[in-house]
Amino acid sequence: MDDLEKLKAAVRGKRIHLFGPPGCGKGNRSKDLQALGLIHVASGIALRAKVRDDPDSELSKTARDVMERGGLVPDAIVVPVVMAHLERPECRERGFVLDGFPRTKAQADLLFSKADLDLVLHLEVPRKFLVYGVVEGARRACAACAAGYSDFDPPRVEGLCDRCGGEIVSRADDNAETIDRRLDGYDAETKAFLPDLEARGIVEVLPITVGDDEEIDEGYLKKLRGEVYWVETDDGTKARMLNLDGMRERLYRFLAEKFA
Ligand SMILES: [Zn+2]
Repeated sequence: MDDLEKLKAAVRGKRIHLFGPPGCGKGNRSKDLQALGLIHVASGIALRAKVRDDPDSELSKTARDVMERGGLVPDAIVVPVVMAHLERPECRERGFVLDGFPRTKAQADLLFSKADLDLVLHLEVPRKFLVYGVVEGARRACAACAAGYSDFDPPRVEGLCDRCGGEIVSRADDNAETIDRRLDGYDAETKAFLPDLEARGIVEVLPITVGDDEEIDEGYLKKLRGEVYWVETDDGTKARMLNLDGMRERLYRFLAEKFA
């Protein structure tokens, strides 16, 4: 992307929600959007900020109790805390990327009855490629900044994060069984409210596979480290998937067209 400054100006103040299954690259796309100046918001970030900045409120006390016990903070607390977080001056001025929240229809109904969004970006990937990519690709992440890597997207120096130099560790919960279970949960709880968002006309799809007939501009492929890689699953299905650099390029091009 040659016109990065122009793109930063175009997305300033935009309210973007990343939608997609575990393993689709929401973490890395969040980082790409942060690089454009948007504020990263997830439920854990909002809860920790609330507890830190307003420790004596009843909401904070309850949230802290639940989090210390390692429990799931109830919607009645999470939703208002995230909504208040989105109203913070820096989120209003610079815009935000909402990552992994809302997770359930109940949360989505509460959130979207009050909060307006400019874009719900659906990172679409066939389920069989997702399981393959996460498990066979040996997905791993930076312990410091959470940037994601895999055999398809190796760091420049093995074991060290490209972005911050932190240590890269494997994700202990990534095996075929747990991925399957998490994808079942996603289909039942999260994907179930996608039609509600589509009815609002704010959903756009950004596929992370490359169609057979899709031309990839050779000029920018040369700049990428791993270009695209082929994935073949047990049933013999093949697809090309974009790597980290390819997806960033695709995302930035999409945003440039959308918000220009
Ligand atoms: Zn890092």
